[in-house]
Amino acid sequence: MKIGLEIHVQLPTESKMFCSCPTTDADAPNTHVCPICLGMPGTRPVMNRKAVECGIKLAKMLNCQIPDTMWFSRKTYFYPDMSKGVQVTQFDHAVGSKGVYHIGKKPIGITKIQIEEDPGKTKRFGDKSSLVDYNRAGMPLAEIVTDPDFSTPAEAREFLKQLITDIRRTIDLPGDGERSIRCDCNISVGIERCEVKNVSGLRNVERALTFEAIRQTKILKAGGKIERETRGFDEERGVTFSVRKKEYESDYGYIEEPDIGIFHIRELADSITIKESHVTMAARLSKEYGLDEKTANQMVLTSVGLAELFELIVKATGDVQMAVSWTRGTISANWKAFEASGKDPAGISEILVRFGKGEITDVETDMGIKSYMTGKDAKTVKEQNADLEHIIAEYLDAHPEIIDEMRKNDKTVNRVIGHAMKETGGKYSSSDIVSVTKRLLESKL
Ligand SMILES: [Zn+2]
Repeated sequence: MKIGLEIHVQLPTESKMFCSCPTTDADAPNTHVCPICLGMPGTRPVMNRKAVECGIKLAKMLNCQIPDTMWFSRKTYFYPDMSKGVQVTQFDHAVGSKGVYHIGKKPIGITKIQIEEDPGKTKRFGDKSSLVDYNRAGMPLAEIVTDPDFSTPAEAREFLKQLITDIRRTIDLPGDGERSIRCDCNISVGIERCEVKNVSGLRNVERALTFEAIRQTKILKAGGKIERETRGFDEERGVTFSVRKKEYESDYGYIEEPDIGIFHIRELADSITIKESHVTMAARLSKEYGLDEKTANQMVLTSVGLAELFELIVKATGDVQMAVSWTRGTISANWKAFEASGKDPAGISEILVRFGKGEITDVETDMGIKSYMTGKDAKTVKEQNADLEHIIAEYLDAHPEIIDEMRKNDKTVNRVIGHAMKETGGKYSSSDIVSVTKRLLESKL
């Protein structure tokens, strides 16, 4: 089985790709439009520089080759949601090509990344009519095309999950990044491939691919032939359905776009630096600080901010082991609340510097960090801690075998957490319970 993905990402620009219409949500259909994005004859599109910069950043993140010059092409087709009758996209000399992106140790080839404009939207009304909304026409997109390197639907989903996190970080994609990313899924069990268009959401990508894998296998087993075609995905029923016989690239009659021109992007590309990707960051943490792969990945995937704080603590205290233990324990447990508060992480490392110097005990440190991270006053944290600690300590005293089991299997901690949850009847957040349990257990190990 071969699977390849085409991922469409809406780029976070303030105006559309070739005109100054806003990219924000419109109150009514056909209000964020102008002669340029409607493709009126005689209008002159002007390239949005930020869209090019985003394209270059993504190309760099995907380790693509970036050409000295790039240009646009017109993809010709008849479709009511494109009043121009063409879509401005990139065919050859796209912003990036021949890249590679890793999931774990497996390399996934990136055929190319291109920037292009989105078409409008059609909506059916009743049996006989459709309405068109051009607000989306001209929105800037990046399309990432992978080689057919995935061997299972689950692997494609895993790739996409990691990719989305990296895309969000690289181009500061706000909001619900998963929904603003749409995917075309190409899959072949035999020789001919089918393309499932416009699937959004990780889960749906895996569902659509799994359905297709089963459908194609059944046809082949029954001695049938798979037609090359474009299919749609019905989210509610979880099935794919035929839309049209698949066209080939040559059917689109690409011609070079004469109104936009050729862009010399070498200098711009050289001047752009990108933030470290999750994968690179995890690899660096594990190399620089001797963390095992699992710990490094967990830290980075929880939040890059958490991993950055870990580095800050190491810098301030010079103690990697201590930094790991607090980052994984109390800090991780309260991270969500802290991240939402927008407070300065340096406050946490300052508390740990005092702990490192022996000025405060570990209990005081724990309470100090918790109080700083959650904004609860020290007295409340202290009372809650004492109460929780009492329940957990009693349970551990009554079941000494747990400590032995913990040494063999760190999942044993879940038993203790389960008990504490039941005992306290929802009075404490699960993150608080986890952090107190872990600290008490660690002190006994
Ligand atoms: Zn416009």
